[in-house]
Amino acid sequence: MATNSKEERSLWSFQILRVSGIPIKVHLTFLLFLVWILFALGENALKTVGFILALFLCVALHELGHALAARHYGIETSSITLYPIGGLAIIEKRPKPAAEIWIALAGPLVNIVIAFFLALGQTAKTGKLPGLEIQGAGVSFIQAMFAANLVLALFNLIPAFPMDGGRVLRALVSLRVEEPRATSIAVGIGQSLAVFLFFGGMLEQNWILVLVAALVFIAASQELAVTTAQSLMEGKAASDAMITEVVIVGSGETIEDVAKHLIHGSQHDFPVKLGDDILGVITHAQIVQALALDLGSDYVAGHMSRDFASCKPTDDLELISEQIQTGSQLPIIVIDADGRFQGMVTKESVSEYVMLAHARSRQRSKKTPSLMP
Ligand SMILES: [Zn+2]
Repeated sequence: MATNSKEERSLWSFQILRVSGIPIKVHLTFLLFLVWILFALGENALKTVGFILALFLCVALHELGHALAARHYGIETSSITLYPIGGLAIIEKRPKPAAEIWIALAGPLVNIVIAFFLALGQTAKTGKLPGLEIQGAGVSFIQAMFAANLVLALFNLIPAFPMDGGRVLRALVSLRVEEPRATSIAVGIGQSLAVFLFFGGMLEQNWILVLVAALVFIAASQELAVTTAQSLMEGKAASDAMITEVVIVGSGETIEDVAKHLIHGSQHDFPVKLGDDILGVITHAQIVQALALDLGSDYVAGHMSRDFASCKPTDDLELISEQIQTGSQLPIIVIDADGRFQGMVTKESVSEYVMLAHARSRQRSKKTPSLMP
């Protein structure tokens, strides 16, 4: 799997090694999973742990396949993390469709190459091709790894998010249809497949299949929300999504004064200025807290946050939005080159912007011919 979303700030994973500059991390749950197997399986545990470690080496190689293909297209990979359910390579930006096809295919291709060499080795040793069993009596290690790599490749080629096949499908569609409609078509196909798998699993009483189908369905909607927002913000600037009608309070005003703005206006957080300079930001929560402590007559300067973030009107909207989501959640103050206040970008103003841009893009896509039969 490869993703360009940037959700990697986890304290739960740590680096085990670095391959051509790419940090390879292991998530703590993966180690807990191995420990659990050691305790749960008794005498066969060591063999199983060995198999899982070998399998995850193949998963890591799969992710490196994505990473090196991405590098070929000039996109770096910030990290590869191994989870109990698989690996995740975080690539730094969304590739163009033609590149995305190859980057997504490179992972499963690695497993097919590994399977090919294991089959060669097995045939040289025993004179016959390995079968498809992963476990059971008489199944050798090579045979099990061969089957596991084929399963890895095929599973990842299922054309639904979050599998690689979903990305290939989206990229193929977006060669013909503009984003974000391409993503919504790919998500629609993936979700239909998930529904099909879900009922298939129920009929067969295959609960793993039912679970996978449910996860695929949920992951597809998340992918849709994230990539739709990303593509609508692509190439846009902070000034496109900033609020310009902002109530700015003076540092000498009291908490009671600002509370009035809370009641009579719709703004939650207020920039605080001294002269022409913005000194800080006082938030809804800080105002409420001060009032609860009966400190309404205090000056706002004593209760505001001074470590707020600021940006220029031309700064990249995607980066700003990410900063708001993952950072302190404070609004980002937009200041021009001369240090003058221009507006502020908040979580709400970004989602408002994305919603309106989405509405406009749907209007546009109605006028372009669709790929769907
Ligand atoms: Zn992959």
